[in-house]
Amino acid sequence: MDIKSKIREVQDFPKEGINFKDITTLLKDKAAFQYVVDQMSKQLEDLEIDIIVGPEARGFIMGTPVAYKIGAGFVPVRKPNKLPAETLSYEYELEYGTDSIEIHKDAIQKGQRVAIVDDLLATGGTVLATTKLIEELGGEVVSINFLMVLSFLNGKDLLKNYKVESLIEY
Ligand code: AMP
Repeated sequence: MDIKSKIREVQDFPKEGINFKDITTLLKDKAAFQYVVDQMSKQLEDLEIDIIVGPEARGFIMGTPVAYKIGAGFVPVRKPNKLPAETLSYEYELEYGTDSIEIHKDAIQKGQRVAIVDDLLATGGTVLATTKLIEELGGEVVSINFLMVLSFLNGKDLLKNYKVESLIEY
């Protein structure tokens, strides 16, 4: 399947110079959605994954069906003040300023095998921060799986200590 043909590109969104990869056109296509979930699940099915972690918001969309398919649990990583119980936070650098993300403290048990699933790797900042939260809780980040990678942003360099996979690259 030609996955790229299912992803809409929107020039200058959300700001000038960004070529936004819009997966809503892929998600509404039943054959394409099933195909990408199946392919991402195949990359993970033999790794004995306990937990899939999905960063807000498109990591929820891609991560949940993959977790269901491989028989893993799903854990959300969210923007601040969204999770109701006790959380662990991690602050990370952006181009201008900082951002932070949170996970429930009881979401991962020591020694659990974890995979991170998200739609897109750009700079890798969000996912690197996500690995810190998982590791602080004692989880092992076994694999990081994206639908797509923007390779010109070199996010894989930032994640060089991890196994990183994707279905397509730009
Ligand atoms: P990053 O932390 O730079 O790897 O990017 C964090 C998130 O921003 C990605 O997981 C995407 O959901 C979103 N994102 C970044 N760049 C784009 C883009 N060109 N098109 C669509 N989403 C993007």
